[in-house]
Amino acid sequence: MALVKTQLGWIEVICGSMFSGKSEELIRRLRRVIIAKQRVQIFKPTIDSRFSDAEIVSHSEMRMPSISVGSSEELFAKVDHRTEVIGIDEAQFFDPGLVGVAQRLADQGKRVIVAGLDKDYRGEPFGPIPSLMAVAEDVTKTLAICVRCGSPANNTQRLVESDELVVVGAQGVYEARCRRCFEPPARG
Ligand code: ADP
Ligand code: ZN
Repeated sequence: MALVKTQLGWIEVICGSMFSGKSEELIRRLRRVIIAKQRVQIFKPTIDSRFSDAEIVSHSEMRMPSISVGSSEELFAKVDHRTEVIGIDEAQFFDPGLVGVAQRLADQGKRVIVAGLDKDYRGEPFGPIPSLMAVAEDVTKTLAICVRCGSPANNTQRLVESDELVVVGAQGVYEARCRRCFEPPARG
């Protein structure tokens, strides 16, 4: 009997604090996809115009071309049916619909690689990431280095006063802190 090989889709999540190397890891995986000559599309939310509108960029200046989208539905609409691998950076900023969109794409046989913050500046689960971790076939937690003590860091310390969930920035606005050095904001 002939063995019919079908393309099995799946979801990978790369998550951790800021500066933990999520974007680097996403870019590393996507570069290998390109080396394998697979068709890839990379998306990020419009909100993250930190460094560039048309690229995903790591803090260590690794970069790759990307498409900015305003919602998970727009992302879904922009996926070419021939695309085999989909990369999504800063996924914590997407609406809850991203979970269903990632599931649909994986069900279609696509490899979906999602990178994003697992926790916000208060230490609370962030946006669609926790649900994506639950439905993903594979989850990688990346750790930064605590700038206070040098321990592995799993928290993002906000350095400026604000009650807004999203304050876009990096160096000087946020820093990586370990469990001991992290100081969550007082609850209002
Ligand atoms: P993320 O996407 O998780 O915010 P990036 O992939 O953009 O992280 O950047 C990771 C890079 O940031 C590291 O390889 C290192 O060069 C740099 N970096 C700056 N501060 C730190 C820190 N406190 N801990 C670890 N890496 C840091
Ligand atoms: Zn520390």
